[in-house]
Amino acid sequence: MFEHLKEQPADKILALMQAYKDDPREDKIDLGVGVYKDATGNTPIMRAIKTAEKQLWEAEETKAYTGLAGDPKFGDRMAELVLGDAVPLSKVARVATPGGTGAVRQAFDMIRMANPDARVFVSDPTWPNHLSILKHMEIPHVAYRYFDSETGGVDFEGMMSDLADAKRGDVVLLHGCCHNPTGANLNMEEWKAVADLLNKQGAIPMIDIAYQGFGDGLEDDAAPTRLVAAHCPETLIAASCSKNFGIYRERTGCLMAIAHEEGRHKVNQGTLAYLNRQNFSFPPDHGARLVLMVLGDDALRTDWEAELEDVRTGMLRLRQQLADELRERSGSDRFGFLAQHRGMFSRLGVGPDKVEALREKHGIYMVGDSRMNIAGLNEETVPKLARAIIDVGI
Ligand code: PMP
Repeated sequence: MFEHLKEQPADKILALMQAYKDDPREDKIDLGVGVYKDATGNTPIMRAIKTAEKQLWEAEETKAYTGLAGDPKFGDRMAELVLGDAVPLSKVARVATPGGTGAVRQAFDMIRMANPDARVFVSDPTWPNHLSILKHMEIPHVAYRYFDSETGGVDFEGMMSDLADAKRGDVVLLHGCCHNPTGANLNMEEWKAVADLLNKQGAIPMIDIAYQGFGDGLEDDAAPTRLVAAHCPETLIAASCSKNFGIYRERTGCLMAIAHEEGRHKVNQGTLAYLNRQNFSFPPDHGARLVLMVLGDDALRTDWEAELEDVRTGMLRLRQQLADELRERSGSDRFGFLAQHRGMFSRLGVGPDKVEALREKHGIYMVGDSRMNIAGLNEETVPKLARAIIDVGI
């Protein structure tokens, strides 16, 4: 039977990681993989998570199963974190999932169950996993214009014009904040216009929010998601705790399905629990419990928010330093968008030849579409990157 299987394409980012490891140059710089790194290149365990872990080790008395939705209190806290008071909790069906990826996958599953004819509109570009999961599930997708490589910003006109093709029952996938891979984001007025358009077309928003707290702060980063969830009759939200709690390998995420229409909540909640059951039964608990503990304890929460704020402002400083260096070296403002972008990533907007030249000549590793992980830099390596960018003729 296995002879019928075909080899799957290698993951490009993992291949890039390997090439970086194999590169003997001492001054090489890794801007590839999408994890936060501090100035020393370490991906730290956050202080509040470490403390919660110690407390949990002392206090936990059983490893018996939780519920199919995970501990319901985790879902409550995540809904509060993401939605604030934009939507009453009674309208938000919610389950724990294995990471944000698990939430994305389950959301697609729910879409397919609700409307087998649904098409999913995705930004061009989007996180490659969106496309590969959709393809694997044989759900048709339609790309909408998003990134303008001339300006480094969003091609909003192009986006709205493409979204006008969405039909009733189609789904439009949006990045809640800190767009991956571009770093370019809509402003609140544009978000409102998108929500209005989707309502007019009868299309449903699905928001993937994987970087809350990495852009403009916990509240500001959630504002677009809250606007959409309050404004549209139905919304799906896939939230990840991997980045903002630094618990990547614990696989912690939350899927929310919001329905404003009375009487929908029970079926939605049951559907999400059913989907967990079919795919993996009970969701992982360890990371979810740590998140629940951190969000539910004043001291832990204050410490977590302070550390997250340091992470965020550190990345903003690196962005500004890079934009300043490039302004000086290029004698122009054409790299100003790097300081405007938010989150961990920025897309330079150059072709694979330039990306390769940066790697070959300067030992600087970024993803082939010119996505760089800003957290892979530090104060010392920013000038080196700026010099290299100019040197290869970008
Ligand atoms: N969505 C986007 C846009 C992401 O960048 C990521 C992380 N790379 C995720 C979802 C989910 O990550 P995880 O499954 O590790 O929580």
